[in-house]
Amino acid sequence: MVHFVLGSIREGTDLRKTLFAICAVVAASAADASQHTACDTRNVTVIANDPEVSSRVCTVADRALARLEKCNLRQTQPITIEIKAQLEYGHPACLGAFVCAENRVELLPPSQISDQMDDTHAFAGLSATDLFDSLIVHELTHALVFQTAGDEMPTVSANEYIAYALQLDSLSAPNRRLVLQSHPTGTPVMADDLNDMVLMFSPGLFAARAWLHFSAPGHGCDFVKRLLENETRLNPGGY
Ligand SMILES: [Zn+2]
Repeated sequence: MVHFVLGSIREGTDLRKTLFAICAVVAASAADASQHTACDTRNVTVIANDPEVSSRVCTVADRALARLEKCNLRQTQPITIEIKAQLEYGHPACLGAFVCAENRVELLPPSQISDQMDDTHAFAGLSATDLFDSLIVHELTHALVFQTAGDEMPTVSANEYIAYALQLDSLSAPNRRLVLQSHPTGTPVMADDLNDMVLMFSPGLFAARAWLHFSAPGHGCDFVKRLLENETRLNPGGY
């Protein structure tokens, strides 16, 4: 089975392999202790071995999907969010991934995220739970970009722009400031500053630029809509 994977990645890894990975793998099998939990308010199922984590994921997913709906991203199919100690897809440095073919998000548990972090990570200043929550938003955004755009998926840069913009949008103001301070960049950010090369070699800088561009007047969810409808393209010569 072939899967297209979009992940959240640590800084300084071989992103060429990670950002746009085609993986040939067998279907997932949950760990024996994992429980399937259907969220009350959304068409989301969580697979995790800790009921507290499952409850947290449902709460964050409900909030995230409500926000994404207001940004022209609508859920049209069921989504599974699986919390597991070892991700099945993507680069070993990934903190999370979205598997298009299965409408399934994979994430490391909050208790394990800190082990994967180093000081250079743009989100290193966040607590493990705050980072975990934001990763749910990032990967759910990929899921809804896929469900919204279908075969007309925007470029990888555009896809990551939307995911990082909404991830930073979900942070508290102090947490967002920490991320932005980790990768200072000039303003205004232009569309040309959001390209595959920056994404590949400094995803933290790309994330900071995405937010600054997204939050500038005249951009925001209207710009996301234009990306989804391919009226605007980021890095048109890229993936
Ligand atoms: Zn991503």
